[in-house]
Amino acid sequence: MTATSTPLYVVMLGAPGAGKGTQARMLSETLGLPQVSSGDIFRENLKNQTPLGLLAKQYMDNGALVPDDVTINMVMERLSRSDCAAGVILDGFPRTLAQADALDKALKAANLAISRVPLLEVSDDALINRLAGRRVCRDCQAMYHLEFNPPAVEGKCDKCGGELYLRADDNPDTVRNRLFVYYKQTAPLIGYYYAHGVLFSLNGDQPMEQVQAELLAAIQA
Ligand code: ADP
Ligand code: AMP
Repeated sequence: MTATSTPLYVVMLGAPGAGKGTQARMLSETLGLPQVSSGDIFRENLKNQTPLGLLAKQYMDNGALVPDDVTINMVMERLSRSDCAAGVILDGFPRTLAQADALDKALKAANLAISRVPLLEVSDDALINRLAGRRVCRDCQAMYHLEFNPPAVEGKCDKCGGELYLRADDNPDTVRNRLFVYYKQTAPLIGYYYAHGVLFSLNGDQPMEQVQAELLAAIQA
């Protein structure tokens, strides 16, 4: 990471299904900054059957978090690449106080800091409904929802024609554990970023275009 003209570091915060990936992709396309999703990197590694992917699978399958040291090293390597020099939209990382601390230290060493942390607030009932209906493109990771954002042709990605699939960890039992893990291990980050003066809340229970408009307005203010 190198300091040029105040790079924008945004951390998307919210429970599983809150819309982090959906909004991160929109911000990434609008602002021309890379979207770095720790979950996507783990899934890509799993698809390629790398040792990292196989290790992560043991945790992902039951909705637990991959250990901090593994996750931190993986994301720091990604952030050190040149396309992140102007900033980045982080989606799914950090998820623990140890990860947030490691990120802050790495940014501080490069005279940088987190710019803004949008917290997407969504009720538990809506989260469960969103994850049950979520479908993801195998090829380009575009996100759909059977009811709220269906593809034009059933089972096919509008953007690249890839096959849409239901994530293995979007089944009701794993979702319940992921929500538990979120409240126990990730929710403390709300206080952490509030104390750092970078947190702001958004009502994520609105149509995605409305969330998008409010998010962009806040980031660009
Ligand atoms: P996260 O990355 O926080 O887990 P996603 O962005 O993958 O969440 O969204 C979860 C599911 O909910 C997806 O199927 C997505 O299409 C849908 N979704 C996202 N935002 C909204 C919204 N504002 N209203 C309704 N459905 C949404
Ligand atoms: P996501 O795609 O963000 O819903 O993440 C899917 C799964 O990947 C999680 O349930 C975890 O098992 C793992 N994972 C993703 N990001 C992290 C992280 N920052 N720390 C630990 N585990 C993670």
